[in-house]
Amino acid sequence: MTTREPRYDILFEPVKIGPLTTKNRFYQVPHCNGMGYRDPSAQAAMRKVKAEGGWSVVCTEQVEIHPTSDITPFIELRIWDDQDLPALARIADAIHEGGAIAGIELAHNGMNAPNLYSREIPMGPSHLPVAPDSIDPVQARAMTKQDIVDLRRWHRNAVRRSLQAGYDLVYVYAAHGYSVINHFLSPKYNTRTDEYGGSVQNRMRLLREILEDTVDEVGGRGAVACRIAVDEDYGPAGIGRDDIQEVLGSLGELPDLWDFAMGSWESDSLTSRFGPEGSQEEHVAGLKALTSKPVVGVGRFTSPDAMVRQIKSGVLDLIGAARPSIADPFLPNKIRDGQLEKIRECIGCNICVSGDQTMSIIRCTQNPSMGEEFRRGWHPEDIRKRESDAKILVVGAGPAGLEATRALGVRGYEVSLIEATRNLGGRVTSESALPGLSAWNRVRDYRELAIESMPNVEVFRESPMTAEDILEFGFEHVLVATGSQWRNDGVGRWHTTPIPIAADAQVLTPEDLFAGRRPTGRKVVVYDDDHYYLGGVVAEQLAADGYDVSIVTPAAQVSSWTSHTFEVTKIQRRLIEKGITRRTETVLMSAGAGSVELASAYTGETSSVDADALVLVTARLPKDSLLQELTGAQQAGRLTSVRGIGDCWAPGAIAAAVWSGRRAAEEFDQVLPPNDEVPFPRETTQLIDLEVLRG
Ligand code: ADP
Ligand code: SF4
Repeated sequence: MTTREPRYDILFEPVKIGPLTTKNRFYQVPHCNGMGYRDPSAQAAMRKVKAEGGWSVVCTEQVEIHPTSDITPFIELRIWDDQDLPALARIADAIHEGGAIAGIELAHNGMNAPNLYSREIPMGPSHLPVAPDSIDPVQARAMTKQDIVDLRRWHRNAVRRSLQAGYDLVYVYAAHGYSVINHFLSPKYNTRTDEYGGSVQNRMRLLREILEDTVDEVGGRGAVACRIAVDEDYGPAGIGRDDIQEVLGSLGELPDLWDFAMGSWESDSLTSRFGPEGSQEEHVAGLKALTSKPVVGVGRFTSPDAMVRQIKSGVLDLIGAARPSIADPFLPNKIRDGQLEKIRECIGCNICVSGDQTMSIIRCTQNPSMGEEFRRGWHPEDIRKRESDAKILVVGAGPAGLEATRALGVRGYEVSLIEATRNLGGRVTSESALPGLSAWNRVRDYRELAIESMPNVEVFRESPMTAEDILEFGFEHVLVATGSQWRNDGVGRWHTTPIPIAADAQVLTPEDLFAGRRPTGRKVVVYDDDHYYLGGVVAEQLAADGYDVSIVTPAAQVSSWTSHTFEVTKIQRRLIEKGITRRTETVLMSAGAGSVELASAYTGETSSVDADALVLVTARLPKDSLLQELTGAQQAGRLTSVRGIGDCWAPGAIAAAVWSGRRAAEEFDQVLPPNDEVPFPRETTQLIDLEVLRG
C-alpha cells in the first residue's frame, strides 16, 4: 500500500455531527439514482459499494414522506407508511455493512409534487401552478394552518420511521425547489400575508418548526442535518445571500449539520461544459462562520488539493460529493492510500442525472459498474480473475476498446490492443477538442494510465488491422471496437432514407471537422437531427472559427435530449450569445450548391436558405466490416470467438460504449444463459393479500 502525502491528512480527520463521529471528511450527499422504490436492492448494493470505498457518510436520495409529496413519474424512495420500511432498512443495513453512517433525506415536495399517482391536491405556500420542475396542468393550493399542523406531524412520523429503519442521520430538506420548506422560504413562491409569509423570519418559520420537531423526535438517537438552498438563482425574486445569512443567524445552532446546496438541482449539478470544479464556492464561502455546526457542500470535487483548500480556507468541513462518488466510489480510499493516479475522475457529463430524468437505473460514463452492482454483480474496482490462458485481441482504442482492454487486463488475461491511429481514445479524443468538452478526455486518460502499468497488456498504435492480418497473427479471441462514422446523406430520425444532395453541394460531417477540414465560404448550416450535444457543440466550434452559423433542427430546442443532462437551456443561451441562428422545428429537405431547402416540421412549408456549406449531425453507421469478416472467419472455424462492442455494434453515447466494453470483459469465459432469459435478477411488485384487504 502506498502512503499518502501528509498534506492530505486533513481530509482524514474525524468530524463530529451531533452524537456521530465521521471517520474522515468524505461525505456522499443525497443523490437521485432512478432506482428508488422500484429497485431498492439495487440501491442498497450501490450505496454499500460507496461505503466500502471510504465515504464516511452515505445518504439516500430524497424520500417522499407522504402521498401529497408524490413526484411521479420520477422514481425516488418513499416513506409513506410502514410498508416502505423493509426497503429503507435494507439500504441502511447495506450502508452500515460497508462501514458508513447512513443518512436519509426526508422530503415533502410541496408545490413541486403533481401527485399524479396519489391524485392528492398539491400543497404550497400560495395558490400557484405546480413548479419548479413540474409543468403538469394542476395548481397547488395555499396551505391552511391545519395543513401545516398535518405536515409537521407527517414529517415527525417520517423521522420516527427513519430511525426505526436504522438511519443515523435524518435530513430536513429545504433545497433544490423540491421541498415545501424551500417554497415557504422563497419570496418567489411565498406570497402569504400570515405569520408564515413576508419577512425572512416569517418565511423561515416552517423550517424552524420542522427542525425543532425533528431534533425533538430524534431525541439524541441520531443526528439532524439541514440541506438548504443558498441561492435560488432567481436574482432578487428568490432566496439570496441576505436571506440565508439571516436564516443561519437565527437557526444556525438548531441542526447538527448544514448541507449547502444551490437553488435548483440544475444549478447544483453543472456539467463541465458550463462550470468548473468548485463553482459553488462563491455562494457558500463565509456561511460556515455563521454557525458552530459542521458544514458540507459540493463542487464536483475530484482533486484532493481542491478539497484541502476548501477545508483550510474555512469554506467547508466535509467534502460533499454526488457525481465524484458515482464516477469513483473508491475516491476516498484512493486518496487515503496515496493512489491518486487510480482516481476515476468524473467528467461532468451528467449521464448519471439522465437516469433519474428518464426514470431508469443510474449509469455513469466513467464507471460502468454504476447501477450494475446488484443485478450483474459488477464492482468498480474488482473483477473476477481470468478463467483460462486465452489471449485476446482488441481492435480499436475508443472508449469501448479501452474499457474492455483495461477490465480484461485486470482479470489477468494477455491482451493486445491495436489502434489504427497514433492517439488512443477514439471519439473521446476527437470530441474533447471541441468547446467545453476537454474534461471528457478523462475517459481516455484513466484507462490509458491503467493499461500502461499492466505487464499483460500490449498496445500497438498506428496499426490499422484487416481481417487477414488478424487471422495471420493467429489470434483466437477478438473484440472488435472499430467505432462508427457520421452519415453524410441526411438520414437520421426525421429522414430514414437519404435526402437529395447535389453533387456540387459542400457537405461535411463531424469527422471531417475532427480531421481539421473546414468549410470554404462563410455561411454554414449545421443540421442537428441527433438531438444530443454534438450538433450544438459543432455549431459553437464553427462560430469560434469565424463562420456565420445557423443550426437547424426538427426539435423545439437545439440538443433537445440534453434536457436530461440539465444543459438544454444553457445550450440555447450559449448559441444565442455566440451569434448562432437557431432554426428549430425545421427539417432539412435537400442541399444544393450555395443553398439548402428547409421545411416547417409542422406544415411542410418550404423555404430556401443560403448556405456555402452544410454540416450533417444526424446519425451514424457502425464501422463493422471487420466484424463481419471476422464473424465469417469464425463460422469457418478460423477463430474461436469474435464480438463487436461499442459503436461498431450500435452507435450510442460514450457511456454505452464504456459499458459495452466492460460487459464483454465481464462475460469473457463465462457460460451465458440463453438470451430468451432475463439476464439479471429484478424486483417485482409484491401482490397484496386480497383476503386480508377484504377483512
Ligand atoms: P467506441 O465508441 O465504440 O469505442 P470509437 O469510434 O471511439 O468507438 O473508437 C474506435 C477506434 O477504433 C478509433 O480510435 C479507430 O481509429 C479505431 N479503429 C477503427 N478501425 C480500426 C482497424 N481496422 N484497426 C485498428 N483500429 C481501428
Ligand atoms: Fe460524472 Fe458523467 Fe459519471 Fe455523472 S455520468 S458521475 S457526470 S462521469
